[in-house]
Amino acid sequence: MDVALELADEYLFDSIYAKLVPAHTSVNGTALDDLVATSAWARDYDLRICLTIMCLVTVGGWFFYLSAATFSYFVLFDHEYMNHPKFLKNQVRLEIDCAVKAVPGFASLTVPWFWGEVKGYSLLYEGLPTSVLGWAYMVATVPLFLLFTDCGIYWIHRYLHHPLLYKRLHKPHHKWIVPTPFASHAFHPLDGYAQSVPYHLFVYLFPMQKWLYIGMFIFVNIWTVMIHDGNFVSRSTIINTSAHHAVHHLYFNFNYGQYFTFWDRLGGSHREPTEEQYNDELRNSKKTWAQQAQDAESIEGEVLGNKKKIN
Ligand SMILES: [Zn+2]
Ligand SMILES: [Zn+2]
Repeated sequence: MDVALELADEYLFDSIYAKLVPAHTSVNGTALDDLVATSAWARDYDLRICLTIMCLVTVGGWFFYLSAATFSYFVLFDHEYMNHPKFLKNQVRLEIDCAVKAVPGFASLTVPWFWGEVKGYSLLYEGLPTSVLGWAYMVATVPLFLLFTDCGIYWIHRYLHHPLLYKRLHKPHHKWIVPTPFASHAFHPLDGYAQSVPYHLFVYLFPMQKWLYIGMFIFVNIWTVMIHDGNFVSRSTIINTSAHHAVHHLYFNFNYGQYFTFWDRLGGSHREPTEEQYNDELRNSKKTWAQQAQDAESIEGEVLGNKKKIN
């Protein structure tokens, strides 16, 4: 974030803050802002840092979400799925609307974490290791990051399915029984923030190379789009694929994990995708869809406490 902040200040925010909050210092009777436009808010002023971070995360979030989801929607997503009985009218527009509105709230909540990084309170480090052990540690932080965040997200996501939290926070993301890639960031801002906490926390607990962290941050956002792409080509019993996450959206109380199936297996919430997801004919069969719609309705009814009869 410090690099992004420096570039943003240099090319945009220095002049914006100079206009919005001009400096009124004078040198030999000549107003300094007449000589060089400066702001009363210096670059290291905490309120300015926080406001700039909020703007950067919001605009960056919108840009990243819209570009990654648009690419996935047109290149990977199986559009046949839009004929599913649980696919909502105008769903893509609703998903985009929900995500675009969630990003500013989500960005505001993450400001303290990024502010801490800029101020040097995290364990992010610059430069490359100088010893074999240093290199080994740097490489090991990649699986460590994935395992740590997968565990964190599993438990946070699982508790978001507790009836009290589900109704208030997580339900907006489950409006999409048959999601498109645009559903990836379509959630309540607090829900999205809660599931992002492990990513931020990691670099306050474990030293990590700064650029590697940025790379992993981009990767996890791409992954979040990927598990909503409705493209079930990859089969795995270890990796939480888009087929696993499709099962989560259809049947609610299964497959809470993000990258791996490990915690779901350990926590008794694993449900392996079947030919219903993998077989081309079955996947787009009206009979399969009708059964899925019926099951999804009855399970959602149970989750919301208004049980519906399963025939
Ligand atoms: Zn969920
Ligand atoms: Zn989802």
